[in-house]
Amino acid sequence: MSGSFDIKGWCPGALRPMLAADGYVVRLRPKDGQLSSRQGLALADLARRYGTGALTLTSRANIQLRGIEAIDHPALLLALEVEGLLDESVRVESQRNILLSPFWQANDATQPLCVALGNALGDTGAPLLPSKFGFVLDLGDAPYLRAASGDVRVERAHTQSPTQEPLFWVYPEGATTGWLGHQSLVVKAAMDLAHWFVRHNGFENPRGRMRVLIERALPLPDAFQTPLDLMPPAPQAPLGAVQVGLGQGGFLVGLRFGQMSADLCSYLCGFGPLHMTPWRQIYLPQAKVQPTHPALLTDANDPYSRIDICTGAPACTQALGETLSLAHEVAKILPKGRFAHLSGCAKGCARASACDVTIVAQKGGFLWGRNAQAGNLFGPALSQEYLLEDLQSAFERPDHA
Ligand code: SF4
Repeated sequence: MSGSFDIKGWCPGALRPMLAADGYVVRLRPKDGQLSSRQGLALADLARRYGTGALTLTSRANIQLRGIEAIDHPALLLALEVEGLLDESVRVESQRNILLSPFWQANDATQPLCVALGNALGDTGAPLLPSKFGFVLDLGDAPYLRAASGDVRVERAHTQSPTQEPLFWVYPEGATTGWLGHQSLVVKAAMDLAHWFVRHNGFENPRGRMRVLIERALPLPDAFQTPLDLMPPAPQAPLGAVQVGLGQGGFLVGLRFGQMSADLCSYLCGFGPLHMTPWRQIYLPQAKVQPTHPALLTDANDPYSRIDICTGAPACTQALGETLSLAHEVAKILPKGRFAHLSGCAKGCARASACDVTIVAQKGGFLWGRNAQAGNLFGPALSQEYLLEDLQSAFERPDHA
């Protein structure tokens, strides 16, 4: 297998950062999935002042600063609080794991439900959930986040109530039935599922997930027995001008490996608020023209828009190899339409799901496989040179074209 790694049992936040080889990692969950221009400019400034000068967008649509020194952490927290980017406690920041459709609109219930759910999760009576346990509010004109990791999903139903009010589904990941009802009861239903998860020992390890519990075929509460009749998932929105949904506009831009310099962040803030996505992309809902910064990815055919990498060595203490320079080499040979995931160890932080090509650093080299997750690779490690040769010849075979 592709090796062992430590399970920390918690994810970094701002109040509880995680120590890496290059200093502390501070991760932020923008409260409604967006940074205002002012917040973005402030974060860029903080990244320059206290961090490495770069910001990273994660696969949970969080944004993180790296290289923070312990002595600077209090000043950083103070600045984040001024900008409204700090939660009231470690418990709240670790439990408020809510992913929003980046294409939410002011009239689609996303914002009020996000606030209410965040408050409910921070309540003292709320169940204590595993660090990876997440809620997905996918309430736009169509579900865009089905492929994103989540445990409790909330989606708009394509049917309405007899009084023409919108209805919503709340359902556990992996289930075929769920709850269908009005907006006013959505948060209660989502929290009922969280309580059910904890009552049934879903939290048996720090990485406990809803899907595992559902696979045990435990009966869901009575209110969650309506057979799901969901809208079909929306296709991935292409980079560039956004035309999904009524009244949508703006532009979707890609970040190479999910990273942006502080200067690029400042540049993007000139286009209005930044909506975070779990796709290493940022949606600029108020942009009227295509942003043209040379570091941005604006073409879906760009191989860099199809490669996920984690931090890797030397910044991650668990890494068994470097990922960044290898990713540049893979970008040169990756066939059109194919995706690659490069991981510094078997933990696979950058991507939980299988990928067309997955490459994992090992002691003494790399493993790679097709349609594999980072933790499921076997065999002898290849040097980088042999790995690239092996990939090149695999890509040239007709079955990989
Ligand atoms: S997957 Fe990458 S970032 Fe995550 S622990 Fe391993 S080396 Fe570090």
